[in-house]
Amino acid sequence: MTSPKSIPEEALAAAHIPALLMAAVHLTGDAGLLNDETRPVYPLMGDASDGGLAPEVQQIIRDRARIAINAYLNGAGLPQPPSEATVRKMMNFIAGADIPDHYVPFLREELHLDGDDPRAPDWSDPALKAAARRLHVIVVGAGMSGLLTAIRLKQAGVDFTILEKNADVGGTWFENVYPGCRVDNPNHMYSYSFEPNHDFPQFYSTQPVLLDYFRRIAAKHDLRRHIRFGVEVEEARFDAPAGLWRVKARTASGVETFEGQALITAVGQLNRPRYPDIPGLESFAGPSFHSARWRGDVDLAGRNVAVIGTGASAFQFVPRIAPQVGHLSVFQRTPPWMIPGPNYHDDVPEGKKWLIQHVPFYGRWYRFFLFWRLTDGLTEAVKADPSWNGGDGAVGAANAMLREMLSAAVRAQLPDDPELAEKLIPAYPPGGKRGLVDNGVWVEALKRDNVDLVTTPIARVRPEGIETTDGAVHKADVLIFGTGFQASAFLSPMKIYGRDGVELHEAWAGDARAYLGMTTPGFPNLFMLYGPNTNIVVNGSIIFFSECSVRYVLGCLRLLAETGARSLEVRREVHDAFNAKVDAENARMAWGAPQVSSWYKNALGRVSQNWPFPLVDYWRATVAPDPDDFILDRAPAPSPA
Ligand code: NAP
Repeated sequence: MTSPKSIPEEALAAAHIPALLMAAVHLTGDAGLLNDETRPVYPLMGDASDGGLAPEVQQIIRDRARIAINAYLNGAGLPQPPSEATVRKMMNFIAGADIPDHYVPFLREELHLDGDDPRAPDWSDPALKAAARRLHVIVVGAGMSGLLTAIRLKQAGVDFTILEKNADVGGTWFENVYPGCRVDNPNHMYSYSFEPNHDFPQFYSTQPVLLDYFRRIAAKHDLRRHIRFGVEVEEARFDAPAGLWRVKARTASGVETFEGQALITAVGQLNRPRYPDIPGLESFAGPSFHSARWRGDVDLAGRNVAVIGTGASAFQFVPRIAPQVGHLSVFQRTPPWMIPGPNYHDDVPEGKKWLIQHVPFYGRWYRFFLFWRLTDGLTEAVKADPSWNGGDGAVGAANAMLREMLSAAVRAQLPDDPELAEKLIPAYPPGGKRGLVDNGVWVEALKRDNVDLVTTPIARVRPEGIETTDGAVHKADVLIFGTGFQASAFLSPMKIYGRDGVELHEAWAGDARAYLGMTTPGFPNLFMLYGPNTNIVVNGSIIFFSECSVRYVLGCLRLLAETGARSLEVRREVHDAFNAKVDAENARMAWGAPQVSSWYKNALGRVSQNWPFPLVDYWRATVAPDPDDFILDRAPAPSPA
């Protein structure tokens, strides 16, 4: 006789209590577990694993969950799924907020209540299957979005080729190898919804772990045979009569041309390094490099190093190189807002991994908790109040309260050095730029005897170092740029010629726009992933956006397949009305405030990067395309020559 299975005590001890409670409701069918006593009351910040509940209430939940989980492990089946009303109640419960009803369908999908991988395309209809076989799609990029596209195209039965300039998959996780590089969004959200990884060793994975995740995805879905590595797209031209995109790419053996009915770009927004325009830069005597082009061959040990920039990248590599170098000068033009995240470098306890792996719905509710807490639940605090007259440091009362809390957290780290603390508190409103997850290592690095935070503006670069406007010269043997990317130059340096030979960047004239971030008038059958206005500031997962976008693109391809049209093109008025709404809403957010300057705004001052609405609105807008939004070219296919 085998002994009955039981939940390890370490799993109960490590549980996120509200997620455990949700799992217990699924396992028992007992909605009575959701009562005033067990209702979470979250603190405004922190990981909130205990739901703010008293220890004795946590124990009641653990005891109840233990019984339910043990019964399940020993063969008790799952009861009927919770009713719509119960799901709604559970959603509000775990979020600790009253969430609008229109989240329910989204949540059902996230929870996989109506089947596994509900975002997968279903092209099982025989006519559609046959039509799918007549399509060929060119995808540019084999990073996170490109691999996702490949999986979905395969599922739909559509043939495709991915052109990737690098030697391997992974995109940003292949290119950024600077010390300390890791995702700053919890991995249980930063992973494909249909490919959860129960074994992420840390809450926020390091670059090698993420690269490995994407490599494993490519292997599992057998994607490599569709990918041409070392192939860099230079130009794409739409041949309207043929209904084809012709793509010219540089390969090891010269220029090659590829053809497909649709062109999907999956090249990211943060790909081409931006070097600062500082006088004398080329005169620097030592090695200099960008964080995204890290020179592992340059030994930093014992040397004088200067770092320009204090954004997300520098925030990660500075603490790692500080102990190795002789002296480090960190040049800060604008400080980032730091968001306390004590578990930023922590391992996921084995007990938590066990729960995600073995307890139905636990991991999915945990994911929804993160989604709400880090994204849509935060938007109110970064929204501008038009009647606000409390100064430029905030955009409204809730935002001002957030400023107070975040400032207090910085000061608490530096009780003995108020001067440094004030240098680290931004003048712009919280949410103006991406907040950086902080577990104290940044301040620890800056406090080191061999590190200086330089806030005097840079005047010029000299052969021997950096001169600031006060005339001081900060000696440096090595110069590292943490100065970000040419984000608003979407799809550059590729040249993309649409209908009538118009080039995309000329059409945009420095102001990239698209409908739902994906399609733009004059460019039939061109679909952009992570395109204009699909970036998020409050720390959501960009994978979520890609999953929504790719489903929509597959919907557009389906429209082509079903109608036999050779191309579809978004209507100008639909595109313009959408952009007007986006612009109006971005102007109401902290990142759209006039006193904020960041890579979210293009040279014309328009926020061209960010999605200003709740994430659930993007989900709703992208479930399927509305055929009325498009002009379909139904001209008969040209007869073969
Ligand atoms: P960034 O956020 O654009 O930061 C660039 C930094 O360089 C800023 O501090 C900027 O100052 C400074 N800078 C630029 N030009 C300068 C100049 N001429 N003189 C002095 N300082 C100058 O770039 P990033 O840190 O590479 O991050 C870019 C984005 O990549 C992030 O926002 C994030 O979305 C993503 N990222 C994510 C992760 C992650 O998930 N872990 C890690 C890295 C990057 P100002 O603020 O004054 O312009």
